[in-house]
Amino acid sequence: MSERVYNFAAGPSTLPLGVLKQAQEEFLDFAGTGMSVCEISHRDKAYDAVVKEAEALTRELLNVPDDYAVIFVQGGASTQFAAVPLNLMHGGKADYIVTGNFAKKAWQEGQIYGEAVKIGDSSDKVYTYIPDVDKLNYSEGADYVHITSNNTIFGSRYDKFPECKAPLVADMSSEIFSREVDISKFGVIYAGAQKNLAPAGVTIVIAKRSLIQDPLKYCPTMLKWKVQDENGSLYNTPPAFSIYMANLVLRDLKAKGGVKAMNEIDVYKAGLLYDFIDNSSLFTNNVEKRYRSIMNVPFVTPSAELDAKFIAEAKKAGLVSLKGHRLVGGMRASIYNAMPVEGVTSLIDFMKKFELENK
Ligand SMILES: *Cc1c(COP(=O)(O)O)cnc(C)c1O
Repeated sequence: MSERVYNFAAGPSTLPLGVLKQAQEEFLDFAGTGMSVCEISHRDKAYDAVVKEAEALTRELLNVPDDYAVIFVQGGASTQFAAVPLNLMHGGKADYIVTGNFAKKAWQEGQIYGEAVKIGDSSDKVYTYIPDVDKLNYSEGADYVHITSNNTIFGSRYDKFPECKAPLVADMSSEIFSREVDISKFGVIYAGAQKNLAPAGVTIVIAKRSLIQDPLKYCPTMLKWKVQDENGSLYNTPPAFSIYMANLVLRDLKAKGGVKAMNEIDVYKAGLLYDFIDNSSLFTNNVEKRYRSIMNVPFVTPSAELDAKFIAEAKKAGLVSLKGHRLVGGMRASIYNAMPVEGVTSLIDFMKKFELENK
């Protein structure tokens, strides 16, 4: 096998090596069935156990209250941009805080179904900050307030969540399981798995049951969270392999001490990288410090040519997928839970060397 690289991709992204090896080991014979997990019926007991365990581990690791549904659905986080209004927008109005590209897409999708009010927007400074959530004009009678808790492309995140009357809905795709959150403060949390949890194909939704009993009448059955909840995420054929992988990652997270322990490592890793960047004469990160993401770290050199050179040389050194999103250019290091500390220190060592050579 060729040597594995350090993969800084924003998503799909790196997964824990131990998990990949376990999946490889049991790929041909899952749980003594003589079949792979991709071949087995989703109605088989052996598979049912996987979904149940993934739900139970999610509940345990995130301390999810009993009156919340935890479901695994398809279509990526982008499908949830529609599912949110389709399940919750009874009064025809909801608030959106637009702090990045995905937040904007969620807001635009919301407009299809009702009045989606943009109550906050940080595009004036290229999404390098989060608007002060205490000073926003929350709409009277809004069905919910939608936020994107971590902005994957721009590398910012909420340091504090809105305290609003309407249920808070958060897209946590790029940071779920990286910091402790009080689930009871949220109406709904959703996250595409391919950033910090599993391969692409599954999205996790955590929703307060009392809020999801009455989806809009034209809500497609597949997007009704209530239906998915009542069927234990097995209303139809689930993305079996992705849920199986999510379960292995959750087991691994539990063995490593859970979200609190992981958060300490994540904060440490991000701190190393930001410290280096802030003291560098070549690299910069423009996100306001208190809002800096511990998952996605964008940075630039003074020129696009040098950025391109950096990305190409880093790749040769086994540090891959460092190109920034096409909307912003430059570089971005996504340092999710599965990125080992050595991956981050290798990147910093490489940046130091590059800085000396390109002064
Ligand atoms: C990646 C991402 C999305 C889009 O996810 P898909 O699964 O590709 O639909 C949405 N929101 C955030 C915050 C993301 O990081």
